[in-house]
Amino acid sequence: MRALCWEGAGALAVREVPDPELRNAHDMIVRVRRSVTCGGDLPLLAGRVPEAAAGEVLGHEFLGEVVEVGPEVRRHRVADRVVVGAAVACGACWFCRQGLLACCDNGTSGPAAEPAWGQPAAGCYGRPARLGGFAGGHAEFVRVPYADVGAFAVPEGVDDDRAVFAADAAPAGWHGVALGGVAPGDVVAVWGAGAVGQLTAAAAVARGAARVLVVDEHHDRLGMAARHTGAEPLDHRSVDVLAELRERSGGRGPDVCVDASGPPPGPARRPTGGPDAGTALREAVHACRKGGTVVVLGGGTEFVDRFPLGAVTDKGLAVRGGSRAGPGAIPALLDRMARGELVTEHLATHRLPLDRGADGYALFRDRADGCVRAVFTP
Ligand SMILES: [Zn+2]
Ligand SMILES: [Zn+2]
Repeated sequence: MRALCWEGAGALAVREVPDPELRNAHDMIVRVRRSVTCGGDLPLLAGRVPEAAAGEVLGHEFLGEVVEVGPEVRRHRVADRVVVGAAVACGACWFCRQGLLACCDNGTSGPAAEPAWGQPAAGCYGRPARLGGFAGGHAEFVRVPYADVGAFAVPEGVDDDRAVFAADAAPAGWHGVALGGVAPGDVVAVWGAGAVGQLTAAAAVARGAARVLVVDEHHDRLGMAARHTGAEPLDHRSVDVLAELRERSGGRGPDVCVDASGPPPGPARRPTGGPDAGTALREAVHACRKGGTVVVLGGGTEFVDRFPLGAVTDKGLAVRGGSRAGPGAIPALLDRMARGELVTEHLATHRLPLDRGADGYALFRDRADGCVRAVFTP
């Protein structure tokens, strides 16, 4: 089959790779109909993930049609149209039983996973195999382990271009406001008006936030966020963001601040060198009201220098993080999409054949031509 593979720093290519096969009774094979770029892929693409090996198949947001099921798969049949959550979770380990599916102990591929963080998170499609990753969805076919846990039938009437955002981007936004404990009447500020930022804003509105403010420096994205969610745009280049946030939150600062800006697309920033990162996070900590909550979203987050820990302690902030949501929220999001309450297809600003995957990632990485997300069709 053809698949979009990482070939080294900055290099992607569509290659012929072996077709995936069932390896376990709980697996199924999906023929991909849509897959989407994600900011979490950019550190890998840029060559900042030393565990990556040339030939890894990218992509953790995809939707497709079931073509083969293992004998223990109960909830899916051949020809079903399914969306697959980005995190690979078993549904049965201690963490999964607590509802922490993105922290699954069994979905990872082995002891090499994430030595930098102390413990490995759940596996993820399109991530290096040595970091607990599984071959990704920018391909004609994907093996879906624990199919009954991570894959969900797409309701009739929800088209592919909408439903594919239920794989990761929409769950991430919903996860972000859940981590923040957003309550009716809250003021919520979101850094980043990409797909996850826009869907975080949508989630905050859905939870009854009184005001939602989105901070970015790209006019097109801010306009899209305002049109589709009712959020108030704050353009970093033309306003004093901290002053505006204070002013629009009764002088206190937002109750919940979500950094959905994702990892920067640029060069190396491992702790031994490279430019500093974390500008949005520092600003979120600075802006947040005393006793409020700061949430950091985004797979591919690395190290941040000069973190204002004193603001966290003196202001009594809660800081929470989530690289990705577990698949638990996906059915409710698909229902919301079916009712027309969650619209996402506008985020697919560029639709390309998989063979042009490298072009799609270049547009996405550079935010060129107004690109929010590139969607590929094999
Ligand atoms: Zn993603
Ligand atoms: Zn598990």
